[in-house]
Amino acid sequence: MKIVVLDGYTLNPGDLTWKGLEELGELKVYDRTPKDKIIERIGDAEIVFTNKTPLDRETFEKVPHVKYVGVLATGYNVVDIDAARDNGVVVTNIPTYGTAAVAQMTFALLLEMCHHVWEHSEAVKRGEWTNSPDFCFWNYPLIELAGKTMGIIGFGRIGRSVAKIAQALGMNVLAYDEYQDRELETDTLRYADFDELLAKSDVISLHCPLFESTRGMINKDTIARMKDGVMIINTSRGPLIVEEDLADALNSGKVSGAAVDVVSVEPIQSNNPLLKAKNCIITPHIAWAPKESRERLMNIAVENLREYLKGNPVNVVNE
Ligand code: NAD
Repeated sequence: MKIVVLDGYTLNPGDLTWKGLEELGELKVYDRTPKDKIIERIGDAEIVFTNKTPLDRETFEKVPHVKYVGVLATGYNVVDIDAARDNGVVVTNIPTYGTAAVAQMTFALLLEMCHHVWEHSEAVKRGEWTNSPDFCFWNYPLIELAGKTMGIIGFGRIGRSVAKIAQALGMNVLAYDEYQDRELETDTLRYADFDELLAKSDVISLHCPLFESTRGMINKDTIARMKDGVMIINTSRGPLIVEEDLADALNSGKVSGAAVDVVSVEPIQSNNPLLKAKNCIITPHIAWAPKESRERLMNIAVENLREYLKGNPVNVVNE
């Protein structure tokens, strides 16, 4: 049985092993696959793994022998899952590998916006402290989070982990999700509808998947309904935000800071409006990538395939 990994480099740039998949079939790993090589590279393989290489309806129609697609990520928007189902292909994802890492990164971004640790360290090295008339100085407003409200859009695994950290920092949490588990509510955490979350949050963090219904959910109109000076964090998927609208709101000061680990087109395009917007931190989609998380991802990918081969597929996203 042939197994093809279309874009294995980001999962395993050399510090992990593909042994688990090698034991299950004849494995070919490509570091990355351009769009015009997808069909050729899949060849006559039955099993295909993709991280961010798109698999659309046209592709599925041209590779009828493919039986299984393993997405090497939680978000599976790169695969047309309806087209996969129509072609009898099982699609799985890796639901839980990166929960802790993405939640941790959310706070790396938020704390950077609150304290500007790196920029202050750089200022010190430039001599600004040496030349300061006082024992301290700061170049940006410093922000205490305790008592502030964090609005979490998408209250699944990552959203809930983010809430725990927010609460540990003394924040109040408003959660918005289509599915609600009222048992999770506490003195400092409750569900809110979308409008209330927008109106009352000091920080808004996105943790819902990218669907057609969530695409562009942060836009001119929704930003207008937010508090003046709100901070926005996106570690989920870039197209959740209309970037032009966020850039305008950052430049006007309506949004006091934004931090995004994901953008609409990745890698980021040189004309992305966020690159020149005020007070915008951009990281290159690294929330998922600590080695511990990638190792877990690899193990779950192997386990997903093993269970599928036993006739007992798990983590299927297109049932
Ligand atoms: P999850 O499935 O556990 O949670 C997603 C939640 O969003 C669910 O509770 C779901 O009900 C909710 N939801 C769905 N539609 C919604 C809507 N219209 N409005 C509000 N909520 C809605 O997934 P997770 O593990 O928490 O991951 C969340 C997202 O994080 C993934 O879809 C992925 O896009 C992203 N992610 C990013 C990275 C990264 O490296 N930056 C890594 C892992 C995951």
